[in-house]
Amino acid sequence: MEYQKIINAIYDEVKELKDEGSIADYIPELAKVNANKFGIALLDNEQNVYKIGDAQENFSIQSISKVISTAIIFSKIGNELWKRVGFEPSGNSFNSLVQLEYENGIPRNPFINAGALVIADLMLEHFENPKEYFLNFVRELSNNDSIQYNENVAQSEKENGYRNTALVNFIKSFDNIKNEPNDVLDFYFHQCSIEMNCIDLAKLFQVFANNGVISKEKTIFLTTSQCKRMNALMQMCGFYDQAGEFTFKVGLPGKSGVGGGVVAIFPNNYTVAVWSPKLNKKGNSYYGLETLERLTTITEASIF
Ligand code: GLN
Repeated sequence: MEYQKIINAIYDEVKELKDEGSIADYIPELAKVNANKFGIALLDNEQNVYKIGDAQENFSIQSISKVISTAIIFSKIGNELWKRVGFEPSGNSFNSLVQLEYENGIPRNPFINAGALVIADLMLEHFENPKEYFLNFVRELSNNDSIQYNENVAQSEKENGYRNTALVNFIKSFDNIKNEPNDVLDFYFHQCSIEMNCIDLAKLFQVFANNGVISKEKTIFLTTSQCKRMNALMQMCGFYDQAGEFTFKVGLPGKSGVGGGVVAIFPNNYTVAVWSPKLNKKGNSYYGLETLERLTTITEASIF
């Protein structure tokens, strides 16, 4: 398929769209980003990269990192994981507290903030130096040793993280957080602050398009069943209260972050990453979703 031609045409069309949403400004560090950035990178399973726009510029992947921490823990402890966090869509915003009280501190899924904080707690439980492990893992899969945490973003989150602090303490009151809340938050804010470009991101997620096998080394990271479950989670929960719309319009598993990144997986075919910082009201990249809807329509990609 002529992916380069296709993404060029989509890029030209989407960048003319109006009603573009607004940049995340809940922390000052993210509000500094140039709102007009827009990049696309598509990686097929033969390792060909197709790119356009700002595809080689770093951005904050934020909640997209939740998929990686979940996959690391799933690969480490298997189905024990589901005793600590659920696998149901939440239908609520990413940072909501409401369902926790009725569900005894078991978050609905690992991609809402509540669930990601429980995963962060598990990272602390299972790794001696979780920040180092996480960063090295990301570098390895993206094949890029220059990937870093952005300490300013992590610090800015810490200074403004009242809701995440509330979440972690609330979950701890149900005994579903085992470590010190501040240590859990420190890991969580760092994982969210990681920066990379669209090409790195497509490479990082290729493992989910490849049945859990890391292409570079041909090593099995997730079993076929675990990979299916990770993709199912992305499908049901990757876009919070817009997951239904994403499934309806795009038809692939994916994940968004408030930094404006979106990544989607077409199993056994391609992985695609888009970055545009302007977000819709649900906190998902407006251009990102418009791009992916066009891409899957033109390439007739769908898991359904
Ligand atoms: N760091 C952000 C937060 O915890 C991540 C949110 C997101 O990307 N949706 O609020």
